[in-house]
Amino acid sequence: MTGGFGVPAKDYLAYLTHEIHSTVFATVDEKGLPHTCVINIMLCDHDSIYFLTSKGKGFYDRLNNQHFVSLSGMKGNDTLSTVVVSIRGKVRELGKDLVDKVFENNPYMHKIYPKAESRKVLTVFQLYEGEGDFFDMRQQPPFHESFSFGGGQVTETGYKILDICTKCGACLATCPSNCIEQFTPFRIREENCIKCGNCFSTCKYSAVEKK
Ligand code: SF4
Repeated sequence: MTGGFGVPAKDYLAYLTHEIHSTVFATVDEKGLPHTCVINIMLCDHDSIYFLTSKGKGFYDRLNNQHFVSLSGMKGNDTLSTVVVSIRGKVRELGKDLVDKVFENNPYMHKIYPKAESRKVLTVFQLYEGEGDFFDMRQQPPFHESFSFGGGQVTETGYKILDICTKCGACLATCPSNCIEQFTPFRIREENCIKCGNCFSTCKYSAVEKK
């Protein structure tokens, strides 16, 4: 599945796996409280990413309780050189079958788990259906694209200018991304909108709708 600008979702999953690799996962415990942990993305294919954990970790329990995760990874030296990929979706445990392939594709794992006996607790999970966002802060205004994979759907977010727009222009002055185009009605250039909500709170005609 592709995002709105034709970049295949698999390219974003590959970027997350090979270029970013170390990501921060969010899971929720049995009390509904959030936990984060750093997890490496080990493998990917057209519609999935794969990661590893050990069965002794609380993370393992939370994965099997919720079967859902949210994660973000970023690459760059500072804010304005950063590329970010965030995804969220359904996970399932695949077990040991892919552990050898994970080690083959990520040789550094041999240093962390040097003995075959020590790998017995390892198990592979697949994030197989979901949606995501790509942000590129290297250009200003920043570029953003939503995408989905494995049958997931993109949840529409952000703002939309309705037909009742009078073209008064009040929103133009408040938009930090300069991404309101002066059509009839005015139109938001989605790929550059940072969803700040300035246009929504500025418009006195209620012509900006929150999606
Ligand atoms: Fe501009 Fe913010 Fe409105 Fe997006 S939400 S169009 S960035 S003012």
